[in-house]
Amino acid sequence: MNIPQSNLPRVVIIGGGFAGINLAKTIANKNLQVVLIDKHNYHTFQPLLYQVSSSGLEPDSIAYPLRKIIKKHKTSFFRLAEVNEIQPEQKNIKTSIGDLTYDYLVLATGTKTNFFGNTDIEKNSMPMKSVPQALNIRSLILQNFEKAAIANTKEEREAYLNFVIVGGGPTGVELAGAIAELKNNILPRDYHDLNANDMHIHLLEGSTRVLPPMSEHASKKAEKFLKALGVNVHCNTQVTDYDGLVVSTNTDLKLQSETLIWAAGVTGAPVGGLNASALVDRANRYKVNEFNQVEGYDNIFAIGDIALMTSEDYPKGHPQVAQPAIQQGKLLGKNLLKLAQKQPMKPFKYFDKGSMATIGRNKAVVDLKPYKFGGFFAWFIWMFVHLMSLVGFRNRVIVFFNWTYNYINFDKAARLIIRPYKK
Ligand SMILES: Cc1cc2nc3c(=O)[nH]c(=O)nc-3n(C[C@H](O)[C@H](O)[C@H](O)COP(=O)(O)OP(=O)(O)OC[C@H]3O[C@@H](n4cnc5c(N)ncnc54)[C@H](O)[C@@H]3O)c2cc1C
Repeated sequence: MNIPQSNLPRVVIIGGGFAGINLAKTIANKNLQVVLIDKHNYHTFQPLLYQVSSSGLEPDSIAYPLRKIIKKHKTSFFRLAEVNEIQPEQKNIKTSIGDLTYDYLVLATGTKTNFFGNTDIEKNSMPMKSVPQALNIRSLILQNFEKAAIANTKEEREAYLNFVIVGGGPTGVELAGAIAELKNNILPRDYHDLNANDMHIHLLEGSTRVLPPMSEHASKKAEKFLKALGVNVHCNTQVTDYDGLVVSTNTDLKLQSETLIWAAGVTGAPVGGLNASALVDRANRYKVNEFNQVEGYDNIFAIGDIALMTSEDYPKGHPQVAQPAIQQGKLLGKNLLKLAQKQPMKPFKYFDKGSMATIGRNKAVVDLKPYKFGGFFAWFIWMFVHLMSLVGFRNRVIVFFNWTYNYINFDKAARLIIRPYKK
């Protein structure tokens, strides 16, 4: 892999997500050799993937080159590779571009889409976990509009204009709101040969309310906002099958749709090679102690979504959202420096900054202990927080400019089928 030998202890970080980059930044230029490995050469700001899917933002504005994060640090290296196996006895990893030894290994591989074993759904639905997948959704939505414009029958046209989103968590809710805005603001302007009333957006959620991880107050408000935008919300409804056209559910509801977007859950993305007991089967996450050390290993750590750290406050582990990943990345950085100096490490304590979701223009819900609110102010806070959390000044400027332009013009400027999606 062409990483120079040095006297510094080598820290290998697998994954350049929120957890991995915060760790890499914390330990850069600090008497450790750092090797960051990712199968993509960029960091993805996943909270805004839905805006790429719905033509609101260009993909480049939510991705950031990983090499740029470490470029100023002479003892930090990046390698574009997929890690396939860990060999803990040899302190070695096997990757798509060769082997690499480590002194400390950090697993920050995040999650992948969970289809709960349903192969039909996996084959026919659209996941939204990466930039290419978000671009696929964008292309498919726009291709469907084009096909609907030339459809021969009403049924055919309706299937192209029916959009089914599965999973009423923040991702599903945000995407449903954004697609509803396409219907309300873009379809009538761009496609005067289509009747916007023929377009239907269905949001299916298996539990009793949308936004189950948030407060009841947030759920009620979000459902009200979604309905006002024209989204059909179906709670207590689980998708049982999808053959590419017919969506079957556990209720009487059956829908015909060319598009099913799967936002119903994630599962960990572990790397093979560690003891089976290090993984929690149900969640596919590594069991870690309060220092993020993987069970059974002193020099292997897991941080972010892939780590399952239980405590009295979080008996099922921390929520799989950005803040625990960022906070664990930063603390592990400090702890690795302590470890290298033979000092005791500091245990992790999660600081919950609250949660939020936006449902479209001027509409969002925010849960901040002890305040819960929704509407314009919540939407403003949502925008500010997301803008400031984006990685890279250039990305912040571009997103700010895009949002301002879209807000003034009721527009979504990235309505381009650059790379047609083939079903
Ligand atoms: C659509 C969507 C919307 C979201 N919205 C929000 C939100 O609004 N607010 C919020 O707080 N959280 C949100 N989340 C969750 C949040 O993005 C995650 O909690 C966060 O990204 C976790 O960070 P991480 O570093 O653990 O993993 P990730 O950010 O997923 O990064 C993992 C990295 O590891 C790399 N990788 C994986 N396996 C390998 C391998 N074998 N070899 C090499 N590289 C590998 C991947 O390429 C990736 O870059 C959202 C997630 C999604 C999918």
